Amino acid sequence: MRFRTSLLAAAGLTAALASSPVLAAEQAAINNGEVNVYSYRQPFLIQPMFDAFTRDTGVKVNVVFAPKGLVERLEQEGRNSPADLIFTVDIGRLSDAYDSGVTQAVQSAELSGAIPEAFRQDNGHWYGLTQRARILYVSKDRVPVNEAPKSYEELADPKWKGRICTRSGSHVYQVALTSAMIAHHGLEKAEDWLRGLKANLARKPQGNDRAQVKAIKEGECDVSIGNNYYYGQMLQNEEQFAWAQSVYPVFPTIANTGTHVNISGVALTKSAPNKQNAVKLMEFLAGDLAQQMYAEQNFEYPIVAGVPQGGLIRSMGELKPDTLNLDEVAANRGTALKLINEVGYND
Ligand code: FE
Repeated sequence: MRFRTSLLAAAGLTAALASSPVLAAEQAAINNGEVNVYSYRQPFLIQPMFDAFTRDTGVKVNVVFAPKGLVERLEQEGRNSPADLIFTVDIGRLSDAYDSGVTQAVQSAELSGAIPEAFRQDNGHWYGLTQRARILYVSKDRVPVNEAPKSYEELADPKWKGRICTRSGSHVYQVALTSAMIAHHGLEKAEDWLRGLKANLARKPQGNDRAQVKAIKEGECDVSIGNNYYYGQMLQNEEQFAWAQSVYPVFPTIANTGTHVNISGVALTKSAPNKQNAVKLMEFLAGDLAQQMYAEQNFEYPIVAGVPQGGLIRSMGELKPDTLNLDEVAANRGTALKLINEVGYND
């Protein structure tokens, strides 16, 4: 019996063999190959979807979380890395991973069918999973709704002199916004804009996105730039609730299109030992159920069209995203960073 089995096995898998109990068990073991994730995103944001995936498929997902150094770790581990997928936020960090050579292309009709072209890399090295809008927070007390800025361009208008707060210009979120400005308007106009914005700042760039809203609450400035999900995070935080209550959100346009958006995303590692299941997980995350769960977990937007948005997100107003391809934003990052230094944005 054993002899016959190995002979047949050597001849390749046949339908008869696949139905034998021993081989079926082996097959199941292969399909149960666990997926290993390196994540810059906090576990509470991604674990619920991984649990749903495991319930669906029986495939276990192991997560290693670190706030930094995971790409470097992948570089060091090389071909021996246990990691299959890397999860991170921002086009800057996704394209850094790609530039480091630790990713590989995924061709999947399911992924390219679900995720808009603007939010995945042309050659399939990374895919966006959620959208995050970079919006304006505007003082309820000091700026009537009809006088609020309607575009990022308007933030360079001298009428806002001494009234705007932002975080460091070199933070990835601000670099991406400046890159989008360059992509839409060209370098010269983008430089004028950045100098104008710098001239309107109420204080030297400092703190994170939420610290700018706090500054509005405390009367230091009237308008700030920040990611949309911090609104939800502040409303859930006892100390920060009052900061959020002092502002209203505005979805500005860039070059008369829509609001600048960034993504959180995923990439398959170059050495992925469990490639098949890893791609299965990527596809699961582009499905309606996971899309809704993932976006709601952090007040972000689903990236797949037609997936319902969370209640708080809907109440903030309608997001009409800029359709600029994020590949273009990535391509302008170096130029943007140079510009930010040249105009002395952080000085
Ligand atoms: Fe953030």
